[in-house]
Amino acid sequence: MNVKLPSVRDLVKLYGLSAKQTLSQNFIFDKNITDKIVRCAGITAADSLVVEVGPGPGLLTRSVLDTNVQHVVALEKDSRFIPTLTQLADANDHRLKILQGDAMKVPHSDILQLAGIHRVDPLKRIHIVGNLPFNVATPLLIQWLHLLQQRKGLFGAAEVWMTLMFQKEVAQRICAPVNTPDRGRLSVITQTLCSANIPYLIPSSAFLPKPKVDAAIVHLRPLQYQEMPFDLLEDVLRFFFTRKRKSASHILNLLQSQLKLETALPSSIDSNARPENITTQQFIQLAISLREMGIDRLS
Ligand code: SAM
Repeated sequence: MNVKLPSVRDLVKLYGLSAKQTLSQNFIFDKNITDKIVRCAGITAADSLVVEVGPGPGLLTRSVLDTNVQHVVALEKDSRFIPTLTQLADANDHRLKILQGDAMKVPHSDILQLAGIHRVDPLKRIHIVGNLPFNVATPLLIQWLHLLQQRKGLFGAAEVWMTLMFQKEVAQRICAPVNTPDRGRLSVITQTLCSANIPYLIPSSAFLPKPKVDAAIVHLRPLQYQEMPFDLLEDVLRFFFTRKRKSASHILNLLQSQLKLETALPSSIDSNARPENITTQQFIQLAISLREMGIDRLS
């Protein structure tokens, strides 16, 4: 950083930036923690772009800028943080651009345009990082997974690694391997497209105000592209996981009769398996088989 800035804690006091519960604001004031999040993300100066969602007063943003990456876009909904973020941009040769808006709605083309990136080198990486607002973290992840599957937005421009904070329980569900009790729809849909792991658990005491639950960082890297009917797969997962205690044979029979199919569904799934015992690849294969039988969606 070129210019000495006040600490984020002092800025919050100076601007009277009390945390808004409606925006799930819980701030981190310990730079050791934000530096570690950035190390977990694997950001290097050679990467194309880092998009930070929900920078708030900007401590994680400072850690991102410390990597010397050339383009950082901070996407923040709450206008109260824009002056402190602008100050940070001024102190960093404007490598940081600030976009005020809702991460659920901002078009990714706006992000690339603001960063001044007209053509992304596909060999260079893009990162999405964020201490996400807990109330929008899962819908945002689902939206990004859809874009990744379609190779659209940032996901159409380059390889995108995501390093995101979730409530610990949600993080464990996202990363849950087959045959574990946390395994659910969110685990399978995420692991269909990404490798997912938890490199860092963060206790609730690290935040101000202290939330009720601990948090965890989830690191996601896209897997090799695989053609699949993604919406249909989501329907299949909903069908199975709303019947979590039933056996696969029971669920498959139910599906067969609901779809009025005359022949049994081809499947390699063990008839006694419960949904949590079914592998990601078996679910993908089932969705592909349904598609081949002319089924687009489950109602
Ligand atoms: N990154 C900061 C930190 O670690 O101290 C703040 C994290 S706080 C948990 C979440 C931040 O996301 C807040 O600054 C909040 O205003 C912002 N936010 C909430 N909903 C948002 C949305 N839909 N789009 C963009 N930012 C949002």
